Amino acid sequence: MKKFTLLLVTLIYVFLLPSCDDNDIEKRQAVFTATVPAEDLSSSRLGSVINGVPAADGFNLNARWKEGDKIQIFVRQDGRVYQAESPSTVFDISSDGKTCSFMVTLPKSVKRDRDYDIIGVTGVEAYIDAEDVIASYSLKRVGIDVNGELSLPMWFTAKKGSNQAKFSHLCVYEVLTVNNNSESSITFRHQGFDVTNPWYKYSDKIVLTNSSRKIVSQDSQTDAESNEITIAPGATGTIVSWYIPAYDIIDATTGVSNAAIDNARLKAVINNDAVSTDDVLKSHKIFARGNAYYMDVNWDGSSLFYSNAFCPDGNHPHIIDMGFPSGTKWACCNVMANSPAESGYYFAWGETKRKTSYDWDNYKWCKRSGDNIVITKYHYNVDGKSRLDPEDDAATANWGAAWRMPTYLQLKELLDNSDSDWTNVNGVWGRVFKSKTNGESVFFPATGYRYESTIYNFGTSAEYWSCVTYYTTTYGIGLYIEGGDVGNCSIGGKQRCAGHVVRAVHVAQE
Ligand SMILES: [Zn+2]
Repeated sequence: MKKFTLLLVTLIYVFLLPSCDDNDIEKRQAVFTATVPAEDLSSSRLGSVINGVPAADGFNLNARWKEGDKIQIFVRQDGRVYQAESPSTVFDISSDGKTCSFMVTLPKSVKRDRDYDIIGVTGVEAYIDAEDVIASYSLKRVGIDVNGELSLPMWFTAKKGSNQAKFSHLCVYEVLTVNNNSESSITFRHQGFDVTNPWYKYSDKIVLTNSSRKIVSQDSQTDAESNEITIAPGATGTIVSWYIPAYDIIDATTGVSNAAIDNARLKAVINNDAVSTDDVLKSHKIFARGNAYYMDVNWDGSSLFYSNAFCPDGNHPHIIDMGFPSGTKWACCNVMANSPAESGYYFAWGETKRKTSYDWDNYKWCKRSGDNIVITKYHYNVDGKSRLDPEDDAATANWGAAWRMPTYLQLKELLDNSDSDWTNVNGVWGRVFKSKTNGESVFFPATGYRYESTIYNFGTSAEYWSCVTYYTTTYGIGLYIEGGDVGNCSIGGKQRCAGHVVRAVHVAQE
């Protein structure tokens, strides 16, 4: 009997212990519902397309849960951080991939009767360093197939008692498509942008547990070795990069911001030679976490350039034949610009050099008489001329005799024979004029205008000079373009002393 009692006690003891442990685990467990980030804007966001094209058939950067996705769980309590024994695997994924469930098991060291925060990280390696959770950005930039799967680094925090995991993106993504138009295979190594004010930091870790996320151990923009892909002749390669925006995001329409790219040239090493685009990528747009920016470059065997719909290669200016009745052919870009999206130089009407300031006091063809402006050339009571001489034509003076500033009739022909749309090319807003005759198009960036030393209305409108003036007044004639779907395009007068850009027409050579 005594033996039996002992056996019974032992049996009870043996069976009860794990049972107590199970109860404890249940108390430490909770099922969470996970959602993809509210700020998941990806390819649908206005401005996300810089000049590339998000693939419609599968490849994009919208976050979706996939079978097998894992979430690393951390708990922060009283300044200490604990990691769950194993990552949680997602289940119950919705058909659109936007929601799923996962189980959180609190580490044993966490006291359930006290407050704590739960931190979850997915798509990137995370670990504890002292009292912080660190997300590692040692992920390589990689070449991918069109249908390649990417894990997007995301995270959430939740207070004790919550069972909602609202994930946020950690990064901005760049999808760079490289077209190898040369006749030999290339190795392409992405080296980031050559910029004066970077809009991002390419970094390798980020602290998640501080009140504001903090980037540590910043890397240079030329983390070269990991970004190389091989592209066959005639083929295309894609490189996806993660960036962490370095500055506060400022709305694009306000113009000046730390997030703007200035004079950015894309750098690369192709077959061991350092190259960069000549084209200048200007941008006054929002670079937001979770957003993907699509860009396209071409390699033609000797130069690397941003692709666009207007030019066959990087040797601007091109002569664009839009099939107009007069036979007029237009330049692909502004006078002294290196590509269609660039502004080029601003000129006062009848001047051929750019200046740091534009006003009547420094205008070449006037003198002041008290408060009065007295025009000294191209005026009915001076010389009777209403049209620029070749030596005062900014296109001819800067690009040679084959180019001229357009006449009033040539501007009118452009408006009458093309459809125009407000669009973004290489990060710059402007109007594209597409020929109703042959579908060829030219892009007029919204360069604004200059008065004194300030640029006004950049990104919202522009005025392009013609070679003619209302010679009874102080106005030159120009083409005005404006933003928006119903943006106005009209021909009218502007003060001659102000700085406007010039789009040249090509003169047939006999
Ligand atoms: Zn061109």
